[in-house]
Order: sequence, then C-alpha cells, then structure tokens
Amino acid sequence: MQIIIKTDWCKSCGICAAFCPTGALSVEPGEKARATDVEACTGCGLCERLCPDLAIEIIKVEVSI
Ligand code: SF4
Ligand code: SF4
Repeated sequence: MQIIIKTDWCKSCGICAAFCPTGALSVEPGEKARATDVEACTGCGLCERLCPDLAIEIIKVEVSI
C-alpha cells in the first residue's frame, strides 16, 4: 500500500488518524498527517473519504511474485 499525504493541503485536523482502524496514520498537534505504519494499512480508504481537505490518497500496489 502506498499512502500519499499532500502536506500542502493537510490542515492537521487529525480526523484521518482518529478514524484509521489500524493506526497507520498519526497527527501530532500542529503537525501534518504522517503515515507512521504503512505496513498496517489495509487500504480500506476511510482516511481518503473522511479527509475534509482531500489531502490523502491511497494507492493499492499489486505485488506479484
Ligand atoms: S484528515 Fe486530512 S486534513 Fe485532517 S489531518 Fe488528516 S490529512 Fe490532514
Ligand atoms: S486506508 Fe484505511 S487503514 Fe489505510 S491509512 Fe487509510 S484509514 Fe488507515
């Protein structure tokens, strides 16, 4: 999974981190959102849908072996 955070658009509201079911995101007070545990991301898309500033994009990366 690839988590793209457009930091210019992020208003540090914390909604994405609060609702992410796996704790993949974190937002420290006054800081922009960060993907702190990309491996934990399931690609559910909740953060993308809930971000009021459209600042997150989740890209599902196919891995083939
Ligand atoms: S929900 Fe959007 S605007 Fe709010 S902290 Fe997350 S990325 Fe930033
Ligand atoms: S897609 Fe789902 S699991 Fe991944 S960071 Fe967003 S809310 Fe969390």
